[in-house]
Amino acid sequence: MKKTDWQLGMDRDITRRDFIHDISLASLGLTLPLAAFAGTPSGQPASAGTYYPPTRTGMRGSHPGAFEVAHALAREGKKFTDPVELGEEYDLVVVGGGISGLAAAYYYRKRFGADSRILILENHDDFGGHAKRNEFHQGGPMRLSWGGTMNLEYPMFSATAKGLLTELGIDIDELLEGYDFHYGSGPKGSPSIYFDAETFGRDELVRGYDFRAGRVDDPEATFERFPLSEASRESLKRFYTRRENVFEGKSEAEVSEILRSISYTDFLKRYGGLTDEAANLYIKTTHGYWGVGADSLSVAECIGAGLPIMHLLGQPELSGSGEDNAGGDVAMFPDGNASIARLLVHALMPAVAPGSNARNVAMARFDYARLDEADSPVRLRLESTVVNVANHDGGASVSYVNQGRLLRVRSRHAMLACYHAMIPALCPELPAEQKEAQKYQVKRPLILTNVLLRDSKAFDALGISGAYCPGRLHGAVWQVKGVNTAGYRHDWDDAGPVPVMFWGSVAPPDASIPVREQHRASRALLLAMSFEDFEREVRTVLDGMLGPAGFDVRKDIVAITVNRWPHGYAYDYLDLWDPEWPEGQAPHEIARRPFGNIAIANADAGADAYTHVAIDEAWRAVGDLTV
Ligand SMILES: Cc1cc2nc3c(=O)[nH]c(=O)nc-3n(C[C@H](O)[C@H](O)[C@H](O)COP(=O)(O)OP(=O)(O)OC[C@H]3O[C@@H](n4cnc5c(N)ncnc54)[C@H](O)[C@@H]3O)c2cc1C
Repeated sequence: MKKTDWQLGMDRDITRRDFIHDISLASLGLTLPLAAFAGTPSGQPASAGTYYPPTRTGMRGSHPGAFEVAHALAREGKKFTDPVELGEEYDLVVVGGGISGLAAAYYYRKRFGADSRILILENHDDFGGHAKRNEFHQGGPMRLSWGGTMNLEYPMFSATAKGLLTELGIDIDELLEGYDFHYGSGPKGSPSIYFDAETFGRDELVRGYDFRAGRVDDPEATFERFPLSEASRESLKRFYTRRENVFEGKSEAEVSEILRSISYTDFLKRYGGLTDEAANLYIKTTHGYWGVGADSLSVAECIGAGLPIMHLLGQPELSGSGEDNAGGDVAMFPDGNASIARLLVHALMPAVAPGSNARNVAMARFDYARLDEADSPVRLRLESTVVNVANHDGGASVSYVNQGRLLRVRSRHAMLACYHAMIPALCPELPAEQKEAQKYQVKRPLILTNVLLRDSKAFDALGISGAYCPGRLHGAVWQVKGVNTAGYRHDWDDAGPVPVMFWGSVAPPDASIPVREQHRASRALLLAMSFEDFEREVRTVLDGMLGPAGFDVRKDIVAITVNRWPHGYAYDYLDLWDPEWPEGQAPHEIARRPFGNIAIANADAGADAYTHVAIDEAWRAVGDLTV
């Protein structure tokens, strides 16, 4: 029976402060004449001395207050006229303080001189974009987790990205030495799958099964416990024990064509012999990695993601990418790539975190009051949403809203390191073809919810470190431990509080609609969800999964941070939904063209959602600027 809010502990006094479900434009002061707002030009938050957003809990990621101005501009066509001239002149103004924007500032100083004056404008209350640090101090020693990007996919790095990391003092081999994180599959626990009572009729936690790596310790016993029809259980047993080539006699080109033209779930049903019910179990496995289900991805894409298939293509193993394939070959900081953002900020503004380096950055407390100092050559201004960027008098002008005031600064160059889909609203003078290309790039919505538990006892008693959850909002749950890098330690044997990361995306209302419409629909659903919706969801899952092992849902949760990312991964082209573009004509290639004194970065510019792509595109975009 569904539990009441009281039974789930919704009334408990945990740390979930400072969320407001829906902040209104009125509360931001935007219904008043904007020029009427006077205040400190820097826009530094009033509470700068104690201002330290990494410790904030509640609704984070795209938090209330961060997006309303942008939505008023881009969705409602609100006009932002008559800005107050701040009288500030820069060499470069960067729109967006994510990794791409920070890297662009870094490269600009290299190309145009270390004394270049740079202003970075960021609409959130913290820098880093998706590279966001979640810091917990409840119930014991500091615990870190990531609010967004975490993996450094170092085998894919270009020479440019490698070079930047080296200059920041990052040694991948050192990071690997301290890396013991396993995406829910050990070292203290077996991979597992959690079937919830609401979706499957009963709570059932089945160990010894890794969805994505195709690992099943004992198919007969494992699938017998799945709360599915007998036909579905049998189809899974057959699927996991078969070894054959279902495309025997077909040429490589023919096989490749099939693998790129049908969805993974269609393949499971047509060639894998799974029932609809069994195939549907896989839909959520890709939510955290693509923002859509495996029913919208080609077989080829799902092979790349490590899902089981190779054993039906004549290979001995189910999946091609090994046991830990959820992450592949990756290195990590304990706050994910927030450490990269922090090291970039330190390189640009050393006074913000004196003495920080790649070996201690995880423990460094950054002084946010020093991000925007008038005498610093580089300044970073938070809570500042840019609403217009234009070529102007041989340079550029940039207007932005900070705490209800519409302000304008001038510069020699401007760098748009923000979402491309937003650029047509910021730069209406761009050529029509370029604006159309930018609108094509619909970011994939994602959710990363961190829940701080009092301890790991229930996980340990069950012999798991996480689980797949095919019936729930977040498709996977993992304990965050074992990233002992950059001065931080949290070992698998440590007692005390532990962050648990819930990972996934919102299922769109109808999976058969075009994929970019799915993203837009999921984004709308995500933005309509309140913090309480997320809290109820994670409490329900933890109670059902860990309750039998002594977890007390009313007492054992100490803090919750929801990182919602309505504009998450950059849009990369998908087999089932996008055409092959002629060289130079793909939307991202048109979208990133420089325009006068304005250049365009962001991971969108590479049509690939990676940290190294954000860096590569910053480097290219700085090269696009004319001297
Ligand atoms: C949950 C999640 C997990 C991820 N995991 C990984 C991973 O493990 N490994 C990996 O390599 N990549 C990962 N990524 C991809 C990630 O997007 C990139 O790695 C990289 O961080 C993107 O950086 P960016 O600067 O291009 O964009 P962003 O991080 O989006 O930064 C752009 C910034 O510009 C701001 N902005 C937008 N419009 C305006 C405006 N008008 N005015 C002012 N500011 C504006 C945005 O709010 C944002 O802060 C993940 C992404 C998400 C969302």
